[in-house]
Amino acid sequence: MREICLATNNDHKAFELQAMLEGLFEIKTLKQIGCIEDIEETANTFQGNSLIKAQYVKAHYGLDCIADDSGLEVEALGGEPGVFSARYAGEHGNHEKNMNRLLKNLEGQSNRRAQFRTVITLILGEETHFFEGIVEGEITKEKRGNQGFGYDPLFVPKGFDRTFAEMGAEEKNPISHRGRAIEKMKAFLLSSDSNS
Ligand code: IMP
Repeated sequence: MREICLATNNDHKAFELQAMLEGLFEIKTLKQIGCIEDIEETANTFQGNSLIKAQYVKAHYGLDCIADDSGLEVEALGGEPGVFSARYAGEHGNHEKNMNRLLKNLEGQSNRRAQFRTVITLILGEETHFFEGIVEGEITKEKRGNQGFGYDPLFVPKGFDRTFAEMGAEEKNPISHRGRAIEKMKAFLLSSDSNS
């Protein structure tokens, strides 16, 4: 089966994507292709950062690649934390501190509208494709739930009254920004597969 690199070392992401792309590709993580370098995400958009990662793998390892970049955009904060979502409070990946900073910055704010956004870059041969997924919702006033990761305890998707952290993965994944972007990519792959 055709191999493709998923530019991440997050085994959970790789496992989830492998399940969704079963029969189309065999997913290899960065570690599995021998890439241990830290690929710096220096762009100021999700698309830019996912492109940097995918191009790095293609240029240095000659492999087709899927890379994603995601984050939370809060309307009343002009789109913050955006590409800084993972390090909003300074320390990379400290979800508790990031959530506390977000709650503090929204104190007294009645507009709690926000969205998660993912952009996937897919490099296949000489072609580059982008797929975007968005889920709209609201930021709660306190953390609720203990599933998921990141800002999940603070985010209630539109049409629901529970936070992502109060939902199981089976309920979150199909409506999440990442799930929606992956679905778009899968539809594209299936249609181009049937054309070739
Ligand atoms: P990544 O690009 O998927 O690694 O996401 C970057 C950061 O955005 C994460 O560290 C989280 O802070 C936030 N984030 C992205 N996706 C989610 C999600 O599904 N739930 C909660 N936070 C997320």
